[in-house]
Amino acid sequence: MDHFLYRNGQLHAEDVPLSEIAAQVGTPFYCYSSATLLRHFHLFDDALSGMDHLVCFAVKSNSNQAILKLLADQGAGMDVVSGGEYARARAAGVPGERIVFSGVGKTRAEMEAALTGGIRQFNVESEPEMQALSEVASSLGVSAPIAIRINPDVDAKTHAKISTGKSENKFGIPISRAREVYALAASLPGIEVVGIDVHIGSQLTDLEPFRAAYQKVAELTEQLRAEGHQITRLDLGGGLGIPYTRSNEAPPLPHDYGVMVKETVGHLGCEIEIEPGRLISGNAGIMVTKVIYVKSGEGRDFLIVDGAMNDLVRPSMYEAHHDIVPLREPNPGVEQQPYDIVGPVCESGDTFAKQRDMPPLVAGDLMAFRSAGAYGAVMASEYNTRPLIPEVLVQGDQFAVIRARPSYEDIIARDIVPDWA
Ligand SMILES: *Cc1c(COP(=O)(O)O)cnc(C)c1O
Repeated sequence: MDHFLYRNGQLHAEDVPLSEIAAQVGTPFYCYSSATLLRHFHLFDDALSGMDHLVCFAVKSNSNQAILKLLADQGAGMDVVSGGEYARARAAGVPGERIVFSGVGKTRAEMEAALTGGIRQFNVESEPEMQALSEVASSLGVSAPIAIRINPDVDAKTHAKISTGKSENKFGIPISRAREVYALAASLPGIEVVGIDVHIGSQLTDLEPFRAAYQKVAELTEQLRAEGHQITRLDLGGGLGIPYTRSNEAPPLPHDYGVMVKETVGHLGCEIEIEPGRLISGNAGIMVTKVIYVKSGEGRDFLIVDGAMNDLVRPSMYEAHHDIVPLREPNPGVEQQPYDIVGPVCESGDTFAKQRDMPPLVAGDLMAFRSAGAYGAVMASEYNTRPLIPEVLVQGDQFAVIRARPSYEDIIARDIVPDWA
């Protein structure tokens, strides 16, 4: 459920007509709903009630300071995958004790920044990384709390580019080698083992792969404890999917996920961490764009819109589907017609949808790409020297620009022409 609904024939974000925002900030832009973000966070928080737990928002899905602060103020932790994300979380006021550092290639500089600034735990993904962390922590005279990311070799049954828990993926340590790697961890100075970490992929629409992975984590917990390791925390990753179409998809709800977590690992008495990104931010955001031209092609009509693949890359990168709706509510019973919906970038890949049924549209009409709050703005680029598009946050009847559109001058001023050129 989200808070982007038609009212009086106009698509609103909570109580604000989106056409009003478009008139003030121009198109294209991203718009997020505070109520939706908070609702999704609390669904997870409630789903794990009764267990000691921390919901760590996956910052990579949407890293705007205003979004991080909104969630942190409700008690959310953060899962970060780079020094930049760590700095963002700290700048948004998140205490180090609520930040988990994930990622397959943390550098020594990133480790040092997190150890100095405060960190809840590092999720370590390889032996060389653990060696490096041991050296960095020792040189600072501190000890680094770690969980080791194990790769449980389960098939998440999701898009290949966002599946991470198969043995052929680059992530984590094969579960078959977990015990020897934990033994190494116990022997290293500056390393304090606190738990086990697992994350098998993104946009999972079935609980069974999670269940299979968490059962393996539960077994491993008992083995490791028998070998003398202190396993007090389980980080179960993110990845719960969202409905991208309003029609037929019904991925499991956070409540059902919570029940499954209790069933698989509840008996171990561990503190539970989860790292949802998409389910919190995905349906809490839309991208609003304007039709520039309607072009009649050979046997098909194109809607050329002012948003493009550089603003929202998911369709060209993952063949992702986004529902696309006009801001003006179509009259009931209006005859739809198929359009190819494309952006202005000079790539055939700059296609959002092919033969998508839409009510008839004309140049100047505004449309919204739904479910664009996760992996939207964060993956944007300035390809074709198209400025990063603004982000707007709505709360009730108020809205604020939370990232402004840079001017061409801003963009050009970042380049430096050497005096010998
Ligand atoms: C991407 C990622 C997440 C978030 O995944 P979602 O599908 O957005 O919930 C969580 N943890 C790790 C380690 C990740 O890489």
